[in-house]
Amino acid sequence: MTHDRAERRLTLPDAAATEHLGRALAGRLQRGDFIALMGDLGAGKTTLARGLLRALGEAGPVPSPSFTLVQHYEITPVAVAHFDLYRLASAEESFELGLDEACHTGAALVEWPEILGDTMPKDRLEVHLLETSDGRAARLIGMGYWADRLDLLDLS
Ligand code: ADP
Ligand code: MG
Repeated sequence: MTHDRAERRLTLPDAAATEHLGRALAGRLQRGDFIALMGDLGAGKTTLARGLLRALGEAGPVPSPSFTLVQHYEITPVAVAHFDLYRLASAEESFELGLDEACHTGAALVEWPEILGDTMPKDRLEVHLLETSDGRAARLIGMGYWADRLDLLDLS
């Protein structure tokens, strides 16, 4: 059935499980994709991004982009730009950072995307991470073309 929103939930008992979720997303990643990584400081956003990048073959360090604001990974089959928008003051600043361009030339992983508001792409995967007493709870929301893709994802 065609729909424009899908949701899945899973529990992530440890950091390895968070990385594993990132790996599961990597297999479906395409140019133009936008993945919003949401959750408080320490929720596991960078850990998930690291798992995804490792699965795509990035062998070097995958640091948090909290100071550089963006880290670029020139990998195949899809280049990945990893953003942290925490310190932006407005959505416009994301253009200067090259977010739009990154979504055209490759895929974007975006921590703290809330500042983008209405300018967030309509087609997107939101990964909401929440700290719990036994690790993390993840809620994935697929919007636009990500709805069908999320249904098809093997998250086991
Ligand atoms: P964020 O980028 O959201 O600030 P990080 O990815 O830097 O968070 O992770 C913060 C800490 O949480 C790290 O020490 C990481 O190993 C740990 N962590 C990640 N996922 C889990 C999990 N599912 N259970 C327990 N700890 C986790
Ligand atoms: Mg982080």
